[in-house]
Amino acid sequence: MTKKLSSLPYILDQTNWGTVKQEKYEMAILPWGATEPHNYHLPYATDTIQAKEIAVGAAAIAWQDGVKTMVLPAIPLGLQNPGQLDLPFCLNTRLSTQKVILEDILMSLQKQGIKRLVIINSHGGNDFKSLVRDFQTQFNDFFIGVIDWFKIVGCDEFFDEPGDHAGEMETSLIQYLHPDLVTVEEAGDGRSIGFKLNSLKKGVVWTPRNWAKISSDTGVGNPKMATSEKGEKCFKFLIQSIANALREIASVNPDDLY
Ligand SMILES: [Zn+2]
Repeated sequence: MTKKLSSLPYILDQTNWGTVKQEKYEMAILPWGATEPHNYHLPYATDTIQAKEIAVGAAAIAWQDGVKTMVLPAIPLGLQNPGQLDLPFCLNTRLSTQKVILEDILMSLQKQGIKRLVIINSHGGNDFKSLVRDFQTQFNDFFIGVIDWFKIVGCDEFFDEPGDHAGEMETSLIQYLHPDLVTVEEAGDGRSIGFKLNSLKKGVVWTPRNWAKISSDTGVGNPKMATSEKGEKCFKFLIQSIANALREIASVNPDDLY
């Protein structure tokens, strides 16, 4: 008897063991977001929604090209800046916690013979590079890749003022992906101030920004010019770029990158 495949065999949240059992998966994608205020008009889950939807969109394209990839459940736990982490229900998650979560996922995949993991990160406060470097000795036959989607060159070209946090880019994306969760008319202007010290302004020295001191509405970036159309263009650009990357990664063995 041939069993009908679930229509979305690349989204773990929505698929079942019957489907998974029939497939030979070669890669996992881990969307990683945060839970934090995003001005007055976007949901706390903004980063998590973006990571998940971008992962699913890219996996859908890659799947059609024969890349057997699975989008894992999104992790909604980010590392927060001072001034943001004091706000109610902002869920600060220490790097040491993130490391344990990632390690457990890698250990599961390792047992199951899936040796490629790509993290799709949405949150500027998350920095997985050091963790991945640290894991190279423990998981030396793995490909572990990190995509900070907001750093992909070209993704901000669809906007007048992309912004940094709850600005035009993020607002447009959520308007496109989840219009029911956006109330732009309630948005603050996302105005922010920078450091007063030149060395910090110029990036000679880095220190985390105190969110409560730089912004009065938690936003950094003006959302007023956001539209769903801009969000759609950006989203489609991102998922195609990432799908191309997934196809490339799947095409070689993890130890054959050079
Ligand atoms: Zn965000």
